[in-house]
This record gives sequence, structure tokens and C-alpha cells, in this order.
Amino acid sequence: MESNVRVRFAPSPTGPLHIGGVRTALYNYLFAKKHNGTFVLRIEDTDQNRYVANAEQYIIDALKWCNIPFDEGPRSSTLSAGLTNEKFGPYRQSERKEIYKKYAAILIETGWAYYAFDTSEALDAHRKQHEAEGKTFIYNWHNRAKGRLENSLVLSDEELQNRINNGDNYVIRFKTPQDEVLEMEDEIRGKITIDTNTLDDKILFKSDGMPTYHLANIVDDHLMEISHVIRGEEWLPSMPLHVLLYKAFGWNAPKFAHLPLILKPVGKGKLSKRDGDKLGFPVFPLAYTNEETGDVSRGYKEDGYFADAFINMLAFLGWNPGTEQEIFSLENLIHEFDLNRVSKSGAKFNPDKTNWFQQQYMQTKEDAELTDLYIPILEEKGILSTREYVQKVVSLIKERAVFVNDFWELSSFFFKAPTEYDSKASKKNWKEGTAELMQELISVISSIEDFSSENIEKEIKAWITAKEIGFGKVMQPLRLSLVGKLAGPHLFDIIAMIGKKETIYRLHNAIKSL
Ligand code: GLU
Repeated sequence: MESNVRVRFAPSPTGPLHIGGVRTALYNYLFAKKHNGTFVLRIEDTDQNRYVANAEQYIIDALKWCNIPFDEGPRSSTLSAGLTNEKFGPYRQSERKEIYKKYAAILIETGWAYYAFDTSEALDAHRKQHEAEGKTFIYNWHNRAKGRLENSLVLSDEELQNRINNGDNYVIRFKTPQDEVLEMEDEIRGKITIDTNTLDDKILFKSDGMPTYHLANIVDDHLMEISHVIRGEEWLPSMPLHVLLYKAFGWNAPKFAHLPLILKPVGKGKLSKRDGDKLGFPVFPLAYTNEETGDVSRGYKEDGYFADAFINMLAFLGWNPGTEQEIFSLENLIHEFDLNRVSKSGAKFNPDKTNWFQQQYMQTKEDAELTDLYIPILEEKGILSTREYVQKVVSLIKERAVFVNDFWELSSFFFKAPTEYDSKASKKNWKEGTAELMQELISVISSIEDFSSENIEKEIKAWITAKEIGFGKVMQPLRLSLVGKLAGPHLFDIIAMIGKKETIYRLHNAIKSL
């Protein structure tokens, strides 16, 4: 059943999506799905100066990789059955320019906004003068009607018309009400009050004919029937203006929820790309190439993280279910998610925790799924093997792996003989008499008929016991011969896997080389 819950993720396409943005998208998605609502992607591209051409595609690809498809948006996501809903589109603000013009005109007509002609030089001069007097310049009723500023509140109708006809540059500013105490409600932070005298008359419409973020954002939220605005804390200071704009238009405001910041792993402050570079973790979901500088930023996907582990980790940055449980599938997250359990205080990012989630997910993945991921890596190395064999290898090594990219390091010896031997381990374990012992072992192995791991173990151990020598004397050089180092899964499993011929071949190799 469709509900009235409609939420939106409204990124500006100014570059790759930071994980804070992905978390905002995720919480919107979880909230929408929990309430059978609609998740909208809206591209806020009114700031031409900061526009980056490939950023929109990056955002869409990132949401797709994260498995959080949008129901409505500039292009319907391939993962979503939803079609772009024509009633509410277009979903790119640059394609909605005409709409904003109309709404700016309404505010002028109703007296909630005015034209301002002040040049940036003039405004700078005001600012400097205020500073010199130890005051802060604020463009609102304190100054706007005192004749110091050039706007339609002080110009006569004729002067105004002349200036507009002259083609003078102007912006449209919001006329913030004087002496009001604004009471607002945030779903996460509770009641917030603000004195309107501290707010400046923000620009709603720029001289380039484009709306600012504020106007476009609330007009779209209204027209797209957004029920809940769930966004990052950095937008909290804009909330009073947004609430006032709804009032000015006579519209019902949506509910607001401002999410806590994602903080640096050490200390205070917002998590930045620089923190990631310094401490060695990505802050973007997908790798990103800056087309201007050629800089490449790492991404979670390319670094080998599973999307579900990444999402699970992100969900916990600012939310918790109130129980000890930490592993949640997307479906479980939808079920459990609740804005009431989102914290007010910032969430410290912990890269070790990300790896912990990744490791947990690795252990629960089906061997068949991991095999699908490993086969292309093997093929690239020129290794041809049966799927059945690769899957068996995966089942033996996965408990030691965090990433699929670890598989080769953990299992190359299942596919090819070692070409070198760990020198420290050889020095310690390959001694006088070892070569003879291994030679003898070759004949023991040759005579084993039932080549199952259990039987090989039984027969080799019986031989060692009969010889009355320590197990280590045989097992360590044997492992070194087969693996090249003292690591890897149960040795008899390795022998059974690579087979009799290969085991004997590797023992001969080691005798020759060590
Ligand atoms: N375009 C804003 C951004 O880049 C959207 C803020 C909002 O959600 O209102 O984050």
C-alpha cells in the first residue's frame, strides 16, 4: 500500500558523494521503505559555478552499488521498478528554472521579498565599516530601510522601474520578519527556537536568473509533496528560513530531521577526504577521477568492500537499534529503522569497525557467491581450474580472508607450486637430515591409496609415530615444500586437494632447492 511518506535525497552535483551523503540517502531510503513511502532523488544543480559534469552519474552509480534505488528521479534507477513520475518531475533543478521565477514573483507581490541592487563592493564596504565600529553587518531590518542599502524597500516605484528597465543587476531577498521568536520542531533534536532578528535577508534569486538553494529547495519540496526532510546537520542553520518561507507561501511545512555529523576518527570535526588519505581509508563509495586535476580518489567498492557490509556500517553511524545486534541486512534495517533512535551527537567514524563489518559479511557469504567473484581474478592470472575446485578452495580459506582480494595470497598454492620458500622458516625448519626424511615421505605418500584428507593424515601420522620423531620435524618442512611458507589451512586438506602427483612433485622441488 502506498503511503503519504515521500522523502528525497537532494545532492548538489559538485563532485563525488562523500559517505556522509550516502548515509543521508540511506536513512531517507530506510525511512521511506519502512513506511511504504517513496524515495525521490532530486539533483540540486542551480549553482552553475560548482557544477561538475560527471557528478550526477556518480551519484546514481553509487546509489545503485549501495542497493538503495530511488523510486523517482532524473532517470529511474535500474534497480527500482518505479518509473519516473511525471506528476512531480523534472527532477533536475536546472530544468525547473521557470517554476522558481514564478514563485519569487509571488513573494515580491505579497511583500515577503524585495529587489536589492547593492553591488558586492558596496556590501563589502558596509561590512568593513561595521567591523571598524566593532559591529557585525547583517542585511535585515537593522539596515535595510535606513537608506544605506539600495533595494525596493527604499526606492520609489519609479526609481525601481527605471533601474530594472536599465538592466541593473539585482537579486531578490527574503524579507525576514522583525522581532519574532520562531518555534520549530526537529524530529531528532526536538524543539528549537530562534530570534528572527538574528537572521539575515537571504538571497532567494540571483542576478544570473537562477534561484538560490533555499528557494529552489523549498519550492520543490512543496511541489514534490515531500513529507519529511531528512538531511545533514549542516543544513540546520537554514531551517528557520525554510520554515519562514513555508509560512510566507501559506504552505504546510514538511517535518524536519537533521542527522548528526560524521566525525573524524580522532578528535572533533567533520570527517574529510584528507582524514581518509592520512589514515588510509576511502571516504567515497566508488572511486572517483577528478577530470580537471586527474586526481583519483579511492572508493569502498574498488577497495573490495561488500556493499551490504558498507551499508550496515553506515547505518550505525548515528543510529542504533537499542540492542546488541550489529549485523543487519538491508531488509532488517528497513524493519528496525526509526528516527527516534538517531542520535543528536556526532558519530565518530571508525575504519577498523568498517573492516570488522566486512569480515563478518565475508564469513556469512555463500561459497558459491565468493567463487563467482574469485574466478575472474584467477582467470586474469591465467589460472584455469574447475568451478568445483575453486569453490572447495574458497571454503577452506574464507575464514582467514577479509576481502576477496585476499584470496590469492591465501590460496595461490592450491593452484601452483611455490616458486620460492620463506627464508627464515627454511633456515629454522630445513635442517640436516630433512631432505632424507622428505625423500622417505615421498614413498609413504606414493603408497597411500585412499587419498582423502582424513586417510592421508592417518597414514602420515602413523609413519611419524613409528619413526619415533617429533611431528614438527616432518610437518613443518612438508608445509614449506607445498606452500612455500608456514601458513595456510589444514595441511592434509591441501595434500588431498592438490593430489598425489603434485604433492610428490613439490617435495622433489623442495629437496632440490633447499
Ligand atoms: N542540495 C543540498 C545538498 O547538497 C540539499 C540539502 C537538503 O537536503 O535540503 O546537500
